[in-house]
Amino acid sequence: MATPESQYDTSAPVLVTGATGYVAGWLIRRLLEEGFTVHAAVRDPENASKVGHLTKMASDLKGDLKLFAADLLDEGSYTEAMQDCSVVFHTASPFINSVADPQRDLVDPALIGTRNVLETVNGVPSVRRVVVTSSCAAIYGDGADCARAPGGTLTEDIWNTTSGIGHNAYSYSKTLAERAAWEIAEAQSRWKLVTINPSLVLGPALNAKPTSESFNLIAQAGNGAMKSGVPKIEIGAVDVRDVAEAHMRAGFVEDAAGRYITSARTISFLEVGQALAAHFGDGWPFPRREMPKWLIWLAGPMVNKAFTRRWVSANVGHPWKADNSRSVRDLGMTYRPLDVAAVEMFQQMIDTGKVKKR
Ligand code: NAP
Repeated sequence: MATPESQYDTSAPVLVTGATGYVAGWLIRRLLEEGFTVHAAVRDPENASKVGHLTKMASDLKGDLKLFAADLLDEGSYTEAMQDCSVVFHTASPFINSVADPQRDLVDPALIGTRNVLETVNGVPSVRRVVVTSSCAAIYGDGADCARAPGGTLTEDIWNTTSGIGHNAYSYSKTLAERAAWEIAEAQSRWKLVTINPSLVLGPALNAKPTSESFNLIAQAGNGAMKSGVPKIEIGAVDVRDVAEAHMRAGFVEDAAGRYITSARTISFLEVGQALAAHFGDGWPFPRREMPKWLIWLAGPMVNKAFTRRWVSANVGHPWKADNSRSVRDLGMTYRPLDVAAVEMFQQMIDTGKVKKR
């Protein structure tokens, strides 16, 4: 049977940085399905445990894959991978909450890396569009920031002004990186920048050993860490397959422009626990109630070093609301249900031994 023609112009290759990653895996799958030649930039193309899923997908799907070695901190290392590409998807950036040195481990790769990739774009004439994977973390830092947004709702007009190297360093790294991206883009007129700003990404991974912080967060729901209760925290969340689709459309929809909040809806930590409990039953120590804020404020720093008193005050008990309507209107996004994403993700962690019933 003949494969259907792609709705996209697949004549030029496209580059995906951070190709080994969780989000990038699903994006590359979509690109290969459409028949693109994907230039996949990774730190070590010889590392089969990191790139095996990509080469396997390429052998099963319509498109082609070429691996290139590149590192965010090596100036010019993306030049070869970028040759002849029409679109650059810059997804690479560490997403880890617990780091030894936030400047070295988060801010430098995010910021220096974004400058490195986008300055390389300036020297490669085939590139007409760059899609940067930013984050809602570049829009807000703490839950309390929502109340300060007009109408209590986060929009693409808002920037995170509350994060710093000592408080929400990951969010700080994403804010600095996205600001740098806009600065570089606005200094020229040959290529267009579009940013995808996802909230917390959920759903199964295609890579064998996902490193994304998304997995640690969901694993905590099943490893007993939150058995006696969860903080009353609301966040936005989105299925990883929707994030990949949003990248595709940001890369190819003619009129796509600016920042796109890519978020299905608001969920609470308790709701995630309840969705998992409803599917996996009582044998798991999923959180089934919320803890009073005063208790978390008092005991939090001893239980989890991320729960500093400043963090608890600014994040527990604050409603979270974001407006995803630009992504719906311009990119035609529709969003999948999040309980399915959480259940599929947890099932994968059971199957791979990342979470175990005690
Ligand atoms: P991930 O699986 O950990 O992917 C991060 C990618 O960045 C990996 O491919 C990693 O390569 C690469 N990377 C890190 N440091 C690098 C360096 N020095 N040089 C080259 N590559 C480097 O995490 P993810 O969740 O997919 O995140 C992908 C993007 O989505 C990031 O920009 C993140 O900020 C953004 N995002 C994620 C979420 C979420 O909830 N997951 C939400 C909003 C935005 P290695 O495999 O070699 O380490």
